[in-house]
Amino acid sequence: MNGDKRKAVVLLSGGLDSTTVLAIARHEGYETHALSFRYGQRHTEELVAAEKVAAALGAARHVVVDINLAVFGGSALTDDTLAVPHHDSADQISTDEIPITYVPARNTVFLSFALAWAETLGSSDVFIGVNALDYSGYPDCRPEYIEAYERMANLATKAGVEGKQRLKIHTPLIELTKAQTIQRGLELGVDYSWTHSCYDPVDGRACQTCDSCLLRSRGFAELGLVDPSFSSTSSANI
Ligand SMILES: [Zn+2]
Repeated sequence: MNGDKRKAVVLLSGGLDSTTVLAIARHEGYETHALSFRYGQRHTEELVAAEKVAAALGAARHVVVDINLAVFGGSALTDDTLAVPHHDSADQISTDEIPITYVPARNTVFLSFALAWAETLGSSDVFIGVNALDYSGYPDCRPEYIEAYERMANLATKAGVEGKQRLKIHTPLIELTKAQTIQRGLELGVDYSWTHSCYDPVDGRACQTCDSCLLRSRGFAELGLVDPSFSSTSSANI
């Protein structure tokens, strides 16, 4: 079964972007291998969402890797002495500085695990849901970062040296707005009530005022829709 399908590793946080990417990888005909991390984040609602998303979108396998970036702290997502910023609207999100929700080197760590799994699977394809628009200003979401990582990765593996692997990092959202991402996901049958993007959930529910909540909410609003994670039947109840 699925013997002829190309395999891809898809980084899956359980949020809106990575869920859309998993749907895109499946739509492109890949057998998807979803990869999530228990990395020391303060809230694990997103891992519950990731499990739901992986099952709903037919991932061949979903692995949750235990690592602990909280030993270093330095981010409001891993250190409970640092507060997650909240705003009244997405227009108030500063684009001048890298926010405190940036987790040091997170995508480099995650991509390294994805690279290792891809080599083991005999896969040359890794998918990641970074985008350069409607994002929070994280340096490891920029196209130049992804290109540099891809170059490095092709020097790094046994499969690469032996010519069996030519790693491609797919970033299908990189030039999409949040609204365009949502539109694409809806076309592919994504139910965004599965997903969880909030940096600072309250009793398991989206706070509606962190940068991540505000950016995705604005994306839904641009499509004339309401973010389902803000409704009374949020994923926390499922
Ligand atoms: Zn939030």
